[in-house]
Amino acid sequence: MNIPKPSDKALVPFVSVDHMMKLIHHEGVEQMLAGLAEYIEADFRRWELFDKTPRVASHSEKGVIELMPTSDGDVYGFKYVNGHPSNTADGLQTVTAFGLLADVATGYPVLLTEMTILTALRTAATSAVVARLLAPRGSKVMAMIGNGAQSEFQSLAMKAIVGIEEVRLYDIDKAATRKCAANLEGSGLRVVSCDSAEDAMLGAQIITTCTADKQYATILTDNMVGSGVHINAIGGDCPGKTELAPAILHRAGIFVEYPEQTRIEGEIQQLEADHPVTEIWQVLTGQAEGRRNDEQITLFDSVGFAIEDFSALRYVRDRIKGTELFHPLDLLADPDDPRDLFGMLQRAKG
Ligand code: NAD
Repeated sequence: MNIPKPSDKALVPFVSVDHMMKLIHHEGVEQMLAGLAEYIEADFRRWELFDKTPRVASHSEKGVIELMPTSDGDVYGFKYVNGHPSNTADGLQTVTAFGLLADVATGYPVLLTEMTILTALRTAATSAVVARLLAPRGSKVMAMIGNGAQSEFQSLAMKAIVGIEEVRLYDIDKAATRKCAANLEGSGLRVVSCDSAEDAMLGAQIITTCTADKQYATILTDNMVGSGVHINAIGGDCPGKTELAPAILHRAGIFVEYPEQTRIEGEIQQLEADHPVTEIWQVLTGQAEGRRNDEQITLFDSVGFAIEDFSALRYVRDRIKGTELFHPLDLLADPDDPRDLFGMLQRAKG
């Protein structure tokens, strides 16, 4: 059979799960979290440049499948991601993802990559960028409520980027806490396994909630939250899925990625549509105030926004240059004569 080899311009670098893990070990987990944080912060600072839209979600009884697109005018990116809290009972991940970058000038893809692991890293890096901005100065202790797939990444990002020294773990499933504690052994963090969320929050300046349940859950009640803490609420990221009692939201200064998306998916879906929130990019660029005083409760109502994935894709693209951490993928049909697609097909018949 006379099948022509695809030309270089039609081969798309593909980063597999195996490549991604090698890249992370090559960089070092904490170094990569810090690198991602730099890219995310840089893109948040040029926020106004980007095309922005709430993610396109397809909901079903058991979960959601979402597309998250954005572009800075030169490069376009999107992520495919699911969220299925009941998956773990069947031995499957709650969240899996892959993503793509493309050149806006030609529309040709320039990177295709796994993003399940990359999403955990970018979510943790974003949490830490925001905590560095809003958490009480000198924060050293974090409560980590929900000890699933995201939890170690969250803990390590807070260590590398914010300077957290102790994580206090709590999960309704003790096996999850044991797994998280074992994975964090030797990380340099002091790890304390706790029997209740209240216990986990003792002495914590940062409280991360990262549970998965497709309902209005109350992981934190109002009386559990003292003044001055920073809440990093990760798990409420879908319509009908929240973690905090509404009374906490009324006491807190609320910070969000993209209000149009967070009002649909975040903790603030429990509030009136005009409840005031502050956009993180505006705090980063000095256009809005961050933490007002030592008593204020700050809340990052995290849902995950496309620009964070775009930053992560950019980071991977830059880091794999000159390495062997990708496969050239024959993804694009590339006839010698661009208009002779059919002729190319015929020639492949041999
Ligand atoms: P996971 O299923 O691996 O872990 C969730 C953990 O929460 C489980 O160990 C479960 O036992 C625990 N849990 C459930 N209810 C609890 C409760 N009441 N108290 C304490 N623990 C409880 O899921 P994951 O991948 O770690 O993701 C966690 C959540 O974060 C999901 O809802 C996911 O959609 C969300 N998420 C958000 C972002 C973002 O950008 N905001 C990114 C990734 C994931």
